[in-house]
Amino acid sequence: MFRYEGEAWEKRFLPRLTYAEVEAMEKEDALVILPVGAVEQHGSHLPLMTDALIGEALITRTLERLPETANVWLLPPVSYGKSNEHLDFAGTISLSAATLQSIITDIAVSLQRSGFRRLMLFNTHGGNVDLLNVVSREIRVQTGLMVFYVNPHSLDADKDLVTPEEHEYGIHGGDIETSLVLAFKPGWVHEDKLVNEIPAVTDYKYLTMEGRIRFAWKMSDISRSGIAGDATLATANKGELMAERIASELALALQEISHFDIDRIVRDK
Ligand SMILES: [Zn+2]
Repeated sequence: MFRYEGEAWEKRFLPRLTYAEVEAMEKEDALVILPVGAVEQHGSHLPLMTDALIGEALITRTLERLPETANVWLLPPVSYGKSNEHLDFAGTISLSAATLQSIITDIAVSLQRSGFRRLMLFNTHGGNVDLLNVVSREIRVQTGLMVFYVNPHSLDADKDLVTPEEHEYGIHGGDIETSLVLAFKPGWVHEDKLVNEIPAVTDYKYLTMEGRIRFAWKMSDISRSGIAGDATLATANKGELMAERIASELALALQEISHFDIDRIVRDK
């Protein structure tokens, strides 16, 4: 299928509209979604495009599940992310934190100028997580927009589908991401090159890569193959199931977000 085909891109892709249509649009409850991904190494079995691809596929599927009346719009994704932890591996293309912050902020300011009030960042790259938290609040303070932020991996769609070890340490190119890419673009996975590499941090009680007490790492510090996780366990079925769970939960969340009113969060005495 061509990239801009299907319901999400035909009916909910904001730049498909004319300026006059955007001007006339009811913006009070309109939610604009900006996917943010990454182009970076994902081991020898997954494409550089993995995070960006997963993001586009998940948001496409989510938007297909919305009722016709939902006032939800999709922007062209920011496919590049902050990926400097992967720069030791060829093909990785990284924006600096400052650049990524500027791009997202400029987009937010433009949306606000157009009259929108709600922006959602939809992020599929772990290395963007901390920065996007900061950026979300900066945009809120600077523009007055309501900013929502979701990392679909944090919806725990994989919980009963992967091993506890994978759930904790499988943060990059392992069972979860490989299963998702197998579901979306099986031809983009080198199934003869699947590996299992869990960094040796499992020996430590307190230290983890992204959990309780963290240490700063770059990928070459923690992995030889470039991945953290067990890609040999991946299946398209598992990926399909995760994608369905994420899409159905997120479709409900988007409708809640459209009606969320930040001016009514402070309780009257
Ligand atoms: Zn990834």
